[in-house]
Amino acid sequence: MRFGTRAVHAGQSPDPTTGAVMTPVYFTSTYVQEYPAQPKDGHDYTRAKNPTRTALEANLAALEQGASGHAFSSGLAAVSTVLQLLDAGDHVVACNDLYGGTRRLFEQVYSRQGLSFTYVDPSRPEAFREALRDETRLIWVESPTNPLLSIVDLDAVAKLGRDESILTACDNTFATPCLQNPIAHGFDIVAHSLTKYLGGHSDLLGGALITSSQALGERISFLQLAVGALPGPMDCFLTLRGIKTLHLRMERHCANAERVADFLEEHPRVKRIYYPGLPDHPNHAVAARQMSGFGGMLSFVLDASVEEAKRVVCRTRLFALAESLGGVESLIEHPPSMTHASVPEEERLRIGIDDGLIRLSVGVEDAEDLLEDLEQAFKS
Ligand SMILES: *Cc1c(COP(=O)(O)O)cnc(C)c1O
Repeated sequence: MRFGTRAVHAGQSPDPTTGAVMTPVYFTSTYVQEYPAQPKDGHDYTRAKNPTRTALEANLAALEQGASGHAFSSGLAAVSTVLQLLDAGDHVVACNDLYGGTRRLFEQVYSRQGLSFTYVDPSRPEAFREALRDETRLIWVESPTNPLLSIVDLDAVAKLGRDESILTACDNTFATPCLQNPIAHGFDIVAHSLTKYLGGHSDLLGGALITSSQALGERISFLQLAVGALPGPMDCFLTLRGIKTLHLRMERHCANAERVADFLEEHPRVKRIYYPGLPDHPNHAVAARQMSGFGGMLSFVLDASVEEAKRVVCRTRLFALAESLGGVESLIEHPPSMTHASVPEEERLRIGIDDGLIRLSVGVEDAEDLLEDLEQAFKS
């Protein structure tokens, strides 16, 4: 089955009791058993198994071409679960341009538990090899990265992991399974914040891990049960509903972001644009090879001080000033003072998060209205 068909159908068959076309929301914490320790089809407690969650997990596995899917209460709960596969003393190599919350989790939580982290330039595959140590057990990447839209060469990093027997994980939130499938490039684990494009309507929090092998999936299942950072059935239902239109939404997100990128390129107040779809993006060729579209996220540097940049993000009328991304509505934010405020200033400037950096999550509205909105915000 092709992607759009999997998005609508995978994991979901009509409800056996009534034939309901939509997966029922199983609001139950426990299940009756006919005899001790003989639950029906493994349903003994909702932390272990819930049919609405099972449908979502099967759908996610199908979308990412993985062996098993696992849903969590948030994207960060999913990221955290990958780190729980490791032991104290283990070392992780990660991109230096990471989702701010992932960086905070690494630095302020797991560093205290005995893990150590090295951050490298995501656009240079050799940088990952150079950072390896004897105790490296995980390579963690995002591609495109947040907020600078750097591209990781997925084939090269997956091969490095295989050659050195190191687990590889890719946070695929920005690209979505519609545009990119890291497992098909050889990655072991794909992570998602379902809160973003998969949910797609800014109305829920969720996370997911998809594994390339059943054996790794069983270790993740164990951690789901043992740690318990699971989504409720209503959030699973809403995510499934969102995913049904993922392929339609991504088409429009990509087309609108391209229009916005072209507009910004011509604009005299814009010093620099970060969008992998532009031919002068340093890794455009890699992006074109591994992605079927360039996504709806885009950052740019305004010729402006921190204060001026903050004023511009307050002046847009359609682009709402907000953190998060991936919903149908367009959002604007100022990473240095918002999503990436927890990155120390020196590090922030070193990796290129300038004072005038502005990030857009380009929604699915009419592109002309979006361009007019940016124009008036830059002008006034
Ligand atoms: C939002 C986000 C996360 C964290 O997800 P939550 O659902 O907010 O916990 C992780 N990675 C990326 C790339 C994100 O955008």
